[in-house]
Amino acid sequence: MDASHYKDVERNTMAEKYVLSIDQGTTSSRAIVFNHAGRIVGSGQKEHEQILPKAGWVEHNAIEIWENIRGVVGMALADAQVNKDNLAAVGVTNQRETTLVWDKNTGEPVYNAIVWQDTRTAKIIEELGGGDQDKYKDRVGLPLATYFCGPKVKWILDNVEGARERAEAGDLIMGTMDTWVIWNLTGGVDGGVHVTDVTNASRTMLMDLKSLAWDPDIAADMGIPMSMLPEIKSSSEVYGTGRPAGLLGDVPIAGDLGDQQAATFGQAAFEVGMAKNTYGTGCFMIMNTGEEIVPSKNGLLTTVCYQIGDNKPIYALEGSIALAGSLVQWLRDQLGIISAAPDVEELAADDNGGIYFVPAFSGLFAPYWRSDARGAIVGMTRFVDKRHFARAALEATAYQTREVLDAMEADSGVKLAELKVDGGMTMNETLMQFQADQVGVPVIRPVVAETTALGAAYAAGIAVGYWNGEQDVIDNWAEAKRWEPNMDDGERDRLYRQWKKAVTRTFDWVDDDTAE
Ligand code: ADP
Repeated sequence: MDASHYKDVERNTMAEKYVLSIDQGTTSSRAIVFNHAGRIVGSGQKEHEQILPKAGWVEHNAIEIWENIRGVVGMALADAQVNKDNLAAVGVTNQRETTLVWDKNTGEPVYNAIVWQDTRTAKIIEELGGGDQDKYKDRVGLPLATYFCGPKVKWILDNVEGARERAEAGDLIMGTMDTWVIWNLTGGVDGGVHVTDVTNASRTMLMDLKSLAWDPDIAADMGIPMSMLPEIKSSSEVYGTGRPAGLLGDVPIAGDLGDQQAATFGQAAFEVGMAKNTYGTGCFMIMNTGEEIVPSKNGLLTTVCYQIGDNKPIYALEGSIALAGSLVQWLRDQLGIISAAPDVEELAADDNGGIYFVPAFSGLFAPYWRSDARGAIVGMTRFVDKRHFARAALEATAYQTREVLDAMEADSGVKLAELKVDGGMTMNETLMQFQADQVGVPVIRPVVAETTALGAAYAAGIAVGYWNGEQDVIDNWAEAKRWEPNMDDGERDRLYRQWKKAVTRTFDWVDDDTAE
């Protein structure tokens, strides 16, 4: 055998290292193996059941999710033809706010995970606020809304028989899905670590944004024993290692970010004023505000963007829009006018035919925070047909994004130069062009559209020295496509004005008689 053969053997055994990212999302769980250039080399994905016990209630079976995670990790490693010895680290990212309570001695959840979209805590929210939606805002950066975790924990302790006693006895612990996944990955009942990161903690309504510690007074208001809460860590450090018997045995679990913050990280939005918008089930825009905590006067959330190890935390403003891609799913599943999401593009007319579709199916999130709103299609005439429905559904996402962007510019005083985008809906050319027309700045999509998983991979890889800080992320980022604004101002403003008027038509719909 000649020398070149030995070189090949050496290359294989010394094998290049990779980072595995686990993305526990709202509709599915994914695992993706990334190489040093930040490119995908293997992946696996599994959907889980959306459990809808009543109008407004959305739950996930956390055991099913954990089994899916184990499955997709195996699929991704097989797809990439690597095993744990090839992995430098594992990062975790997750659907945010979705909340679980489980028994730390048995690993059994006491109730399904209550999903972020779930509105069952409306009454709890009202009681906590006593008419003041901003009661905790200066401490936690968030208005009182059904979206966040703390009230969901209270609901479980109030409604599941025996839960409060078990929680007070120290047997029950809570977590968002990152916490559940990391606890299980690191051993579960056999020494699993009970941690979360600053970005996920900033969505609970229980963490003080300045000190990055749990606020005992708010926890007391919600009747949540402090012993239930996970330890708050940075987004990039070694939390523990994979349980020895598992597929990830002894691999450092070293990154943890909520999905939208992970996408911001994966988009390399590290400078103050940089923003990204992710178009998935919902739509989430995040603008980096650096080390400054910027309180919002315009209906945005103040949240933690990321924290690397002992470095100072970086904060962000966020505009969360509850319905975006899920409106396209609604056209498919409830109206049946398309058979797959991408078909909406072909069906959509060139204009909206005068109709506006405000998808306030579970109230309006940013910048309105109106839980009394419900969806409306306004401007209907005899002329309108399904092509206009499709068009109006796409336009709705673009208008909502513009509303959030306007709020961001007002709060931060920064004028956005370009909008980085990602997520499933960015495959829709019609939407992306209309988006650029509405926001009036270029809209840019990167080569790796899986920015969420990528961001968590970077956080993990940075913690173990696989990547050399943010600069490597910036160097790896590459533009795939850009849309330039191309609509005259008169038309742009006319459409937006009409949209704003349509939004007001959805207010005050739910009252005591119509409430669930
Ligand atoms: P998530 O991570 O929230 O599950 P994804 O980023 O995978 O979401 O995006 C999926 C969403 O994007 C779905 O709601 C789907 O309806 C929508 N979607 C996918 N492709 C298109 C398309 N070509 N045009 C419009 N919407 C789309």
